[in-house]
Amino acid sequence: MSFETFGLCPEILRAVKARNYQTPTPIQEKAIPHVMEGKDLLGCAQTGTGKTAAFALPILQRLYGSPAGGRKRRAVRALVLTPTRELANQIGDSFGAYGRHTGLRHVVVYGGVSQKPQAQALHQGIDILVATPGRLLDLVSQGIVNLGGVETFVLDEADRMLDMGFIHDIRRIIDKLPVARQTLFFSATMPAEIQRLSGTILRNPVRVAATPAATPAEAVEHSVYFVEKQTKGELLRHLLADDSIKNALVFTRTKHGADRVARQLVRANLRAEAIHGDKSQNVRERALADFKRGRTRVLVATDIAARGLDIVDLSHVINYDLPVESESYVHRIGRTGRAGASGIALSFCGIEERPSLAAIEQLIRKHLTVVEDHPFRSELRPPRKTDLDPHRTQRAPRPYMIRAEELMREGRGNPGRPPQPGEAFPRNARNA
Ligand code: AMP
Repeated sequence: MSFETFGLCPEILRAVKARNYQTPTPIQEKAIPHVMEGKDLLGCAQTGTGKTAAFALPILQRLYGSPAGGRKRRAVRALVLTPTRELANQIGDSFGAYGRHTGLRHVVVYGGVSQKPQAQALHQGIDILVATPGRLLDLVSQGIVNLGGVETFVLDEADRMLDMGFIHDIRRIIDKLPVARQTLFFSATMPAEIQRLSGTILRNPVRVAATPAATPAEAVEHSVYFVEKQTKGELLRHLLADDSIKNALVFTRTKHGADRVARQLVRANLRAEAIHGDKSQNVRERALADFKRGRTRVLVATDIAARGLDIVDLSHVINYDLPVESESYVHRIGRTGRAGASGIALSFCGIEERPSLAAIEQLIRKHLTVVEDHPFRSELRPPRKTDLDPHRTQRAPRPYMIRAEELMREGRGNPGRPPQPGEAFPRNARNA
């Protein structure tokens, strides 16, 4: 299958060619024809599957194919809601790249930065708005954005939105959209709450699902290092002494942990930076840009900050802490081994993280290769199930007393004193 078969206009096809996309990814193949027809869509897909183009290309095509008319100030015709600033920028870049020959305008808005340039850009008139929920609501309440003309609404990373507590904002935004519209709903996971939400905002959706191009079992080598919590930092520095780690995205469980790990690496003269939700927008963007350009070798991040980051040529993902939710492991390693390239995922596992490791192995249906050969190997072994449940190792204890009848049967009774029925003796009694 080729992009030509979708019926995209030559201007868009030219831009796709410039990106060097040879064939559509599975989600693009499944979704684009339906989205072009104006249908609602429920997409179970995460970043790395090519989902951005799966919605951006048909949206551009529809807008380009039906110009807004002679209105001077173009109102928003397509709205994409996404949870983080990084994702918003990535999606904005995609619209910019695929739509560069169409003359369609897009603007990206998110909080944490001055609203003024965003308001100015909006004032000039736009076709496509990519936004995070909070800033969008601010702009709507000030009358800077009007959502009354939205024809296509995309809710991206819906599960993450819920995790981040955006559900009320999302509902308020949906209330401001025209009822007659096309809705495209994407989520990496489909827990009950997400299914309920999708049920209330989609009409007769086409369902498509796609696993990332690089699924854990296929393109990524997974290994695990058993290490004690206190020596994880030393193990990381030891591993980074190897130049074959061209660049690494290191995941920690907490923001504080991310800062600490990055600080220790910098002290050891390694080029490292941390990104997480407490860092300002500018700092995060600069850190990401430096990492993508190869100026920093190690980016230390929390799950939320790194979700969806599109980093081409990432050689290693290192799980400094294992994620509590095993699905996050899949999201994390989805950053490496993209587009058929092979990737490497290294995980550090402390004794208290063994249950998380077991859950991950169950989820990806694969055992991580245990690396024994390293100087920080933990000798601690988790308690085996049998240690916790004595009945699994020991046979049921024999009763201490032996009944008289049994004693007689064993020929150990005292013939001079026949026991009375029901009488009992200590088991080791020789001649009771
Ligand atoms: P996404 O899942 O939308 O974040 O896309 C992940 C990466 O795949 C991005 O770097 C895209 O540029 C790239 N990509 C999207 N579609 C294709 C395609 N058909 N062929 C090759 N790469 C693609």
